[in-house]
Order: sequence, then C-alpha cells, then structure tokens
Amino acid sequence: MIWKSVGHSDLFTGGKPVLIRSLLLATESGDVHRYRVCSEAGKPVWARLAKDSEGKIGVLVTGPYSEVLKIPSRREVQPYLFVPLNSLSKKMQKKLLIPLNCELYEEENILVAKEVQSEPYYVASRNSSVFHYPGCKRARKVLPQNRICFNTRNEALHAGYRPHKICKP
Ligand SMILES: [Zn+2]
Repeated sequence: MIWKSVGHSDLFTGGKPVLIRSLLLATESGDVHRYRVCSEAGKPVWARLAKDSEGKIGVLVTGPYSEVLKIPSRREVQPYLFVPLNSLSKKMQKKLLIPLNCELYEEENILVAKEVQSEPYYVASRNSSVFHYPGCKRARKVLPQNRICFNTRNEALHAGYRPHKICKP
C-alpha cells in the first residue's frame, strides 16, 4: 500500500477513508464505551488506516475537512485521534483493511495490524480475469497454485486483467 505523510503528526496514512459516527473508547475507569464522534458542524468524521513509526497500523480519525473532531459526551475537541482497529465496528475494519496485505494480532485487547509486504501489489487468479487488492476476500480465496501478483495496477491492466468491482483496486 502507498502511505502518505499526514503532515501534522509522525503518522502515515493509506487507503480510502470511511465515514464513521461513533468510536469504542476506554473510559477513565478503563471500561470500553461507545462514544458519538462528529465534526464541529455535527457531520460524520473520517477514519483511515494509519501507521506509526514502529509500523503498527491503527486508525486515524479526523474531521472531514481537517476541522477538529468532537466527542460531545466527553466534551472533548481534538485535531485527530489515533485509535486501534477495534475502536471501529467489524464492518468498518473490513472496509479499511481491503487494500492491505497484513497480519492482525492483539496486544492487551488492542487489535493491531502489521503490513506483510509494504510494496503495493495486486492479486489475480489464473482462472479469472479480475485483479484485487491483497486484502480482498476474493483475493484470499485464490489457491496458491493459481495466484498471480502484480506490482503495479498498470501491470495487471496490461496483462489483460480488469479491476474487481467490489474491492476497486
Ligand atoms: Zn477484490
């Protein structure tokens, strides 16, 4: 995956953002609670994959247009939050992880992803004409003997493959 510098922190972001309205965050007593998050104007905020200097991948949450984000019930206003993957619903985690070839592991109840190969690459099967992001469900089902990898999107297109309509590589 291609990672870009965020600018305002030492994090790098990648993939497409998803809109979210709530986050699971720890309370002061250590319990986990679902909090509503929104922009200053009350709109949904953006969540995208982000990686820290150790290569641990979590989620960067920001206001949609670099505005600040608010957690109304905690009366908090933040420029951004870097949270573990399991602060988001399973569905949103899956959406975010599609472009990534990663291993997931838990560290003290925190779900972390580590990238297996940092170069962007795409996966296809010898038996089909579509190519995928490595994290796509369909890419994971391709048997090793049928698996073809491309380093760039163009390579896949030149080899006659078309982008999968679901993971949109
Ligand atoms: Zn796919």
